[in-house]
Amino acid sequence: MVLIDLLFPKFCLGCRLPGTYLCPRCQKNLRQLKQGRCFYCQRDSLYGLTHPLCLKKFNVDGVTSLYSYNGFLKKIIKNFKYRLATKIAQDLFRAITPEAIDRLSFYKKLSAPIYFQPIPLSRKKLRERGFNQAFILAKFFMTYLNLPIADFLLRVKDTDPQSVQKNKRDRSINLRNAFVINQKTNFGLINNARIILVDDVITSGSTIREAAKVLRKAGALKIYALSLAG
Ligand SMILES: [Zn+2]
Ligand SMILES: [Zn+2]
Repeated sequence: MVLIDLLFPKFCLGCRLPGTYLCPRCQKNLRQLKQGRCFYCQRDSLYGLTHPLCLKKFNVDGVTSLYSYNGFLKKIIKNFKYRLATKIAQDLFRAITPEAIDRLSFYKKLSAPIYFQPIPLSRKKLRERGFNQAFILAKFFMTYLNLPIADFLLRVKDTDPQSVQKNKRDRSINLRNAFVINQKTNFGLINNARIILVDDVITSGSTIREAAKVLRKAGALKIYALSLAG
């Protein structure tokens, strides 16, 4: 047992059983999303690709979420964001089944150049939190899809906590111009690239839309989004 386990004994985030953050019984509460859905019309779609008729300028080409964002996963993700992220991540990633991971196989078919782009935190927030949970998640996805992690985006605007906003429209106004291209980026890398945005949760999709718009304007060919929960 390492020191951190003595100082902060592990308890299941679902049922308080000691020894793990996700006990085998609670792992069953992770509800895998099997059928892909179009991000814009919410109807079934192979691999979660946006239907050609639903696709407009600067839109997202496809979205894959592995699990349903139910009460149980909400609790885990909240903890994953605010404390002991890497410890919780280990147990959480171990619980992700091969069937869920299989949803990523679509991305193996895409041709290069292709990158993961974790949704960035603002510099201030990154300093406060010490890590970006989307980056931790991208590193996990990297073990299945051996793609480079890009640093093309900067978050220049901190948004109010999304929970206090009432509706989808408020959320998207709140996120407007939240991202810019990182000045250090070589635009030649973005040009004609396929970029997979990575975030822990995709619900309203405002964040994804805003990030996709910025990258498409900078020349990206296709934008996909991949999340743990949706
Ligand atoms: Zn449990
Ligand atoms: Zn559609």
